Amino acid sequence: PYERMQKIREQNIVPSLRTYYKKPLLLHQGHMQWLFDHEGRRYLDLFAGIVTVSVGHCHPKVTMATQKQLARLWHTTNIYMYPAIHEYAEKLTSLFPDPLKVVYLTNSGSEANDLAMFMARLHTHNFDIICLRGGYHGGSPYTLGLTSLTPYKHGVANGFGCTTTMLPDVFRGPWGGSHCRDSPVQTVRKCSCTEGACLAKDQYIEQFKDTLNTSVPKTVAGFIAEPMQGVNGAVQYPRNFLKEAYQLIRERGGLCISDEVQTGFGRTGSHFWGFQTHGVVPDIVTLAKGIGNGFPMAAVVTTKEIASSLAQNLHFNTFGGNPLACAVGAAVLDAIEEDGLQKNSEDVGTYMLLELAKLRDKFEIVGDVRGKGLMIGVEMVTDKDSRRPLPAEEINQIWEDCKDMGVLIGRGGLYSQTFRIKPPMCITKRDVDFAVEVFHTALQRHVE
Ligand code: PMP
Repeated sequence: PYERMQKIREQNIVPSLRTYYKKPLLLHQGHMQWLFDHEGRRYLDLFAGIVTVSVGHCHPKVTMATQKQLARLWHTTNIYMYPAIHEYAEKLTSLFPDPLKVVYLTNSGSEANDLAMFMARLHTHNFDIICLRGGYHGGSPYTLGLTSLTPYKHGVANGFGCTTTMLPDVFRGPWGGSHCRDSPVQTVRKCSCTEGACLAKDQYIEQFKDTLNTSVPKTVAGFIAEPMQGVNGAVQYPRNFLKEAYQLIRERGGLCISDEVQTGFGRTGSHFWGFQTHGVVPDIVTLAKGIGNGFPMAAVVTTKEIASSLAQNLHFNTFGGNPLACAVGAAVLDAIEEDGLQKNSEDVGTYMLLELAKLRDKFEIVGDVRGKGLMIGVEMVTDKDSRRPLPAEEINQIWEDCKDMGVLIGRGGLYSQTFRIKPPMCITKRDVDFAVEVFHTALQRHVE
């Protein structure tokens, strides 16, 4: 069956859909943090279908709730009332501070960000949307304008005339900063700041101001940022950067959009939403991935006032908030609460960060360990001084070895130089011990 699947892949699936690993995995089954291939081999899933399987593969409670709704009503659309959408809207918005109390349900993160941009423009009557270098906000022609990671752009800078500004980068190199950050693990290079008065932050704000003054008009429609950059490899901002950036944007009449597609639903541990870790309240929040534990659904949460700008005309999508999606979404929220997954993210994530930091201290090629909760980046470098990315063949070998020993890890960063660890939030400390041991063995083999 493996060879047959490979043949179909070559003949009938677009080549742009690339698979991980020299010999791609053929996965048949999942249970919580585990995946099983066609030969029954078990893998610890540290990437969760790209940060999506939030509560665990085939989580029994979510599966049961989905089956119950499947037997009752799969789909009608939002031109009718049905209990599932109301119950879910109430439950989801109860998790947000005032005035973020209304939700529009969509099908993917890209669509959610498309809509957020649309709302910001309609509400402010401005056009420019500001985004940050290294951000990923989607692959639709509209959101590609916001996604600054160049490999995704195919040479098409800004889809549909969308004007975005790539901000200058004061991070030390494209692979994250040596600044003071909100993580149990600080960089090996000391940041010369005391908390709240970070030099790197000040530099960043200065550059941010410069860019606003020189390359965008005096008014802007909005500013979009991930609370921690996901695809870029768990890149964190200097302390208080987002707070000051929000203020600058609001002075120019713009709305602040928090892309919580990866950071939401308790993944960062200390808070349920990533924006809370920065002490800000956005005007618009976008959600996807973990919201449905793998079921295709997404959402935009905003204020009634902002959402009203869209109500002047028709705006519709067929599947958004259909009964099945809402039943899944509600069950995911229940599972996070009942299984204590936000706290688990904090406890197990902190434990893992500290264990990985020991490997960073031991191996010269582990340049940085960063992140918060179960959103972790491990950056591979030639050496800690130059912090140049480790050549791809070498990173690939370590990564393949981990897979062969039963641990699946994601990749990220501009040069694919950062290992991304974002497992289902049900992972245990015992699993962490296993994963760190495997990673240690792979690193040891590499240096020998
Ligand atoms: N925003 C962020 C932060 C993401 O990581 C992604 C997906 N990687 C998206 C938006 C786009 O989501 P989707 O792939 O569901 O369109």
